[in-house]
Amino acid sequence: MNLTGDFHTHTKYSKNNHGKNTIAQMVNAAKNKGLKSYGISDHGPGHLLFGIRRKNILKAKQELEQLKNTTDMNLYFSIEANLVGKDGKIDLKEDEIKLLDHLFVGFHRGAINNFVNPFRKIFNSEKQKQINTQAYINLLNRYNVAVITHLNTYIKVDLEKVLKVAAEKGTLIEINNKHMNFEDSDAPVLIASGCKFILSSDAHKKENIANVANALDFVKRNKIPLDRIVNLDKIYK
Ligand SMILES: [Zn+2]
Ligand SMILES: [Zn+2]
Repeated sequence: MNLTGDFHTHTKYSKNNHGKNTIAQMVNAAKNKGLKSYGISDHGPGHLLFGIRRKNILKAKQELEQLKNTTDMNLYFSIEANLVGKDGKIDLKEDEIKLLDHLFVGFHRGAINNFVNPFRKIFNSEKQKQINTQAYINLLNRYNVAVITHLNTYIKVDLEKVLKVAAEKGTLIEINNKHMNFEDSDAPVLIASGCKFILSSDAHKKENIANVANALDFVKRNKIPLDRIVNLDKIYK
């Protein structure tokens, strides 16, 4: 069972030394790990500490484009945009979204949003959970989201409701090796949802590319059907 592609990784464009390596270093490491496909997805510009600078989005894309001549791997350009609005809005403008091969979206505490108040301890209250759930549903209805990253990590949602819409839209649900965002008790809901899944290292340095051991353990332990995972033993598309 081989990982064919790792699409959620961070480079130096995730600012303040959050991502440790250049795009070229990351691509080279991905090649050495034997991946057929590799993608970068730096934090969206709305992340105050680690977000890519808006002016660097095109620059990063061009840098990756140039490396396509040097490798036979399939290279993909993405941004891990931030969910910032109750209405489902993200921190990318339409013309920035157009630069991406596919859109990844996650919730991060480092981006300003209008639906979770970090100063009140309501992060995971039932009322807040319903608000979070609606924000994700609005997100899925508003944009063509390829992957929801580490769902349920920083804020909780009603999984069944979000996954129902994700399945309808064909949005992939990430099993994130770094965050391990699901509990074993979530597995029946994941399986019943009909969603497809993607395993990601969420590597912030080259050594961690393709490291999905924890995510794969979760999959095996909970008997998630392997044909529902898009980046095992087949070309990503
Ligand atoms: Zn993230
Ligand atoms: Zn990430």
